[in-house]
Formats: sequence, C-alpha cells, structure tokens
Amino acid sequence: MGLSGGELGVNELCGLVGKIEKLAKNAAENDSDKKGAIALLERIGKELKNKSVLAKAQEKEKAGKRLKRLEKHECQGLASTANRVLGEIVKRFKNEERVAQGVAKFKETKGAKPVEDMVKVKVTEHPKVEREQEKAAVAAAAALVAKGDPFTNARQVVKKALLEGLKLACEETGKDVELAEKVATELEEELSQKYNTESKVSKEYKLKYRSLSFNLKDKNNPDLRSRVLLGEVDCKDLVTWSPQQLASDKRKEDNATIKKNMLLNAQARKPTVSSTDQFKCGKCGQRKCTYYQMQTRSADEPMTTFVTCTVCNNRWKFS
Ligand SMILES: [Zn+2]
Repeated sequence: MGLSGGELGVNELCGLVGKIEKLAKNAAENDSDKKGAIALLERIGKELKNKSVLAKAQEKEKAGKRLKRLEKHECQGLASTANRVLGEIVKRFKNEERVAQGVAKFKETKGAKPVEDMVKVKVTEHPKVEREQEKAAVAAAAALVAKGDPFTNARQVVKKALLEGLKLACEETGKDVELAEKVATELEEELSQKYNTESKVSKEYKLKYRSLSFNLKDKNNPDLRSRVLLGEVDCKDLVTWSPQQLASDKRKEDNATIKKNMLLNAQARKPTVSSTDQFKCGKCGQRKCTYYQMQTRSADEPMTTFVTCTVCNNRWKFS
C-alpha cells in the first residue's frame, strides 16, 4: 500500500496473516490449503522489508505474534516454512540495523550532521507515534528471536514430531509421558549428531526424521514405537534404520503386494511368446525356436520379430 517494488504495507501484511491463518486451519486435511499458506508465508518473507511495517502490523493486529504461532503448526512443512521465513526476516532487520548503525557511526566520526538532522526532523514530526512504533518494532523482533536460532527451532519441531509418535506408545503401553519426552530428546539428539553438521539442518536429517516420525505415528506400526519407548531399540541404531526396516509388517506386506502387481503388469504388457518350427537356427541348425513380435519403431513400419533358439539359446531379430 503506497510502497513500491513489491514491498508489503501494514494493511497488506495484516491481510496476508489473516489469509494464512484461514488456510492453516485446514492445512492438515487439505494439501492445496497447506500449499497456499506456505506460498503466502514465502511472499511475506520476500516482501516484508520494513521493520516499522511489522511493528505497526503488530500493534494493529498482533501480526508478528500470529505469524510466530504458525511455527507450532501441526503440519511440518508449514511450521518449518514459518520458522525459516521469520528467521530470514529477523536476520534482514538485524542487518538493516547494523548498516544504519554503521552509517551513523561513520557520519559521526566525520563530524557530519545531515543524517542526524534528518532523523531528528522525522522524530519530531510525530515524536510519540514514532517512539511507540520503535518500541513495538523492538518487541516484535524480540518476540521473533526469543525462541532461539533457526537451527534450534527446527530441531524443536523435529523433537515435537517424534514425541507425538512416542506419546501414542505411552497410551498403548500405559507408560508415563515423561519417558516419551526423554526418548524423543535422545532420539532427536542422535539424529542431529549423525546427520547435521555446523549447526545446520541437513537434507539427510530431514529425510530421516520424516521417515521416523511417519513410522512412529503409523497406526499399523504400534510395535515400532513401543519398542523405541521401552528402550528395546537403541536410538543410536534406530537413526540408521532404512525405511524398510522401520516399516510395519502390514506395510512391508503392502509393499510386497505392490511390487508383485507391478511385476505382473509388466509381464502382462509383454507380447506372447510362441513356439514354431518356421525358423532355422543359424548356430545349431535346429528348428526349435520361440519368437515374439513387437512394434519397436513407428506404428506404420513393420513389427520386429525376436527369435530365440530353445536348443542353444541363440537369439536374433528381423523386421
Ligand atoms: Zn540353436
């Protein structure tokens, strides 16, 4: 609003936050709502360039706080996007501040006044409003960083997801939730230690955690989560398990069935093989061959005939 170059204004930002919340409500059931919410978050990440816009939107409709809340959304993709986008924004504002301070310092040492004067003029224009806005901006930025850096945040999200599965195991085994908390912490630590480096979330870490969290929550896989909860499986080993190892017996069966069906379908598409004595093998001279025909080139060209000698296994083709 009134701002150029794809930069968000206060009302726009508030509007986007409202839209995102609406979409987020159904995000768990509706993939397109989830994608929509993520896209709008990304847009805010790109176009929110002005700290005072966030401050005003926070003051007006608690926009910062509401965005922050999305980091705890049950949909991992949505939560992690919120986390990343907010992290980027905070970083951008911090950089901005640093640059501003640097410029001010530079001007100071040069003994030049114009910038300071400009600032003063601006402040005296609406002193109270400006100060309130500045305060709100600081509060909003503080709220955004209060929960720690993106790496810690991402790991928290992962731990929470793992915990969900383990809590199911508590219900199923009658164990205390405290145990689930302890195991989830340990499991996430092993995961991070094995796959993350330099305080950065790696692709492997994300992949592994998704597979783990999926299987721990799988309603057909109560055995896995109870074994993990009760310490029958070592967390250190568990983080190295393949998706096949993690899968429930039911899903292993399903996967086998799918594979079998795929194989059957593939066979069904193969042309029928017929026996014949109309071809003479050039290698052994016998007339015991099988053959099949296939369209290997364009449809209006003749079929290719593939012949196999059943005596010496000699193969040839012609068209
Ligand atoms: Zn032959």
